[in-house]
Amino acid sequence: MHDCIFCKIVAGDIPAEKLYEDDEVLAFRDIAPQAPVHFLVIPKKHIAGPADVVEADDRLVGKLLRVGAQVAAENGTGGAYRVICNNGSKAGQVVFHIHLHILGGKDRPWPI
Ligand code: 5GP
Ligand code: ZN
Repeated sequence: MHDCIFCKIVAGDIPAEKLYEDDEVLAFRDIAPQAPVHFLVIPKKHIAGPADVVEADDRLVGKLLRVGAQVAAENGTGGAYRVICNNGSKAGQVVFHIHLHILGGKDRPWPI
């Protein structure tokens, strides 16, 4: 996808601190962490956001959660973490390539 920053990270055109990678999924640390552990999990395939997921993506989108859990367990969350996936700029989405935020490493800091 032209001009998508996360597609550029997938392509290796922009560096990122990668925590997990396979042929479908990439996890990397957020450049501006909001928690002691804060990384993003993305599909390598460009999907703009949650509202753009089609039925054919169901397995891939589920895999984001599974990989997120695995990477969280390997990176100091103790199994306690929050998952956020923003849809739309009014909800705070800035990068329009679907991503799970995984936030952890704190004790129950979340409002909900
Ligand atoms: P959003 O607000 O779209 O849900 O989240 C986008 C996230 O991507 C933000 O937390 C932001 O810090 C992160 N981000 C934006 N550009 C880059 C980048 O070039 N590299 C990395 N590692 N994270 C980025
Ligand atoms: Zn993209």
